[in-house]
Amino acid sequence: MKFAVAVVQLMNIHDLNNESPETIRTAPVFYPRPDGGFVFAPETVVVSGCMLKSHHHRAMVEVGNEQGIPFCYLCAKGYGIRLAPPEFLNYLRKLGEPVPEEQAEVILGGREHDVLELCAGCDVHGFLRPQPPVLRRDSTIWFSFCVPLWTETDQGPSASAVLTHSRVLPEIAFVEEKAEEAVKEAAKKFYGPIPVGKEALAERVRQVQMVYHRMYASEVGAWTSVLDVDRVGVASTTGVKLPEEERHKRARAAILAYAPLLHGAMGASLARALPTGKALSVVAFVSRSLKVPFVPPHPAVLPNGPGEAADEFAGFVKLYSADGAVVWWSDPRMAWEPPSPPEGVDVLEADSPAGVLKLSLEYLGLSE
Ligand SMILES: [Zn+2]
Repeated sequence: MKFAVAVVQLMNIHDLNNESPETIRTAPVFYPRPDGGFVFAPETVVVSGCMLKSHHHRAMVEVGNEQGIPFCYLCAKGYGIRLAPPEFLNYLRKLGEPVPEEQAEVILGGREHDVLELCAGCDVHGFLRPQPPVLRRDSTIWFSFCVPLWTETDQGPSASAVLTHSRVLPEIAFVEEKAEEAVKEAAKKFYGPIPVGKEALAERVRQVQMVYHRMYASEVGAWTSVLDVDRVGVASTTGVKLPEEERHKRARAAILAYAPLLHGAMGASLARALPTGKALSVVAFVSRSLKVPFVPPHPAVLPNGPGEAADEFAGFVKLYSADGAVVWWSDPRMAWEPPSPPEGVDVLEADSPAGVLKLSLEYLGLSE
């Protein structure tokens, strides 16, 4: 059983992948032109696949919690460090938030199926324990970079700009309640010579603002992801499988966890910044019997729109004598047409981005 998805979405004014306040992640990208040949964009704003994966992990914990799926302490807290080393566990103990002892035992020395039983996050997203006894599990889910579609603008396929923000220091909110001494302390801390008189001091403190710069970017971003449903709940080193019902619950949670990403929950600073985003096209490639994951071509390299991938998928499932369905949704205002069903593959039209996930779950027999 396999699930793959290709997504195109408008991402306006969002600090996509900031590495520091003033720099944003860019990558060199080659684009095919519809009329043949290629065009090169040396500094295209991108979101890394690792970033998308970590947002999916967080969403999966939220969805899974609702459904009573188990998560280890680290995944549940969103640490994103799977099978942490002893030093990290000690660090957490020092902070007064210790990992429960029986979980620490599994994390530090358990076999693969022990870890799968403990945590659906570690199961689906994979892990590495570099210290003995060494243990590694490949992720069952992968993400491409989010790369913009080619658009003919003066700046190339993405635009970015540094914006200046100012934030008032916390002392200011309380200045009226503070004694003169406290105001003096605050003033001393943030600027040089202290003015005379309480009123003058308060005025100076009010003027204190923290100015900082942050880089924002806009683009029509696209990404792909693959979920190897067959491997969820199966230990690759020992072959031990979790009960079928639990595996289905986890696979369903993993697919449902894509929904926030379809609506723009991605990028570096999601704790405080949301994009002015809109899904434009969501296409899923699903199969019940396929044994090898199909990696959909990235929409950024399909000059004729996401429907182009349907033929490639049909060729792929035919090669392995498997079934397949393309689940399609596109904003009606876009010029993209649903693909005409290629031989051996169904085309199912969904009525919304989330509807693609719903129809995919139904096709795979993973609906509740
Ligand atoms: Zn975990």
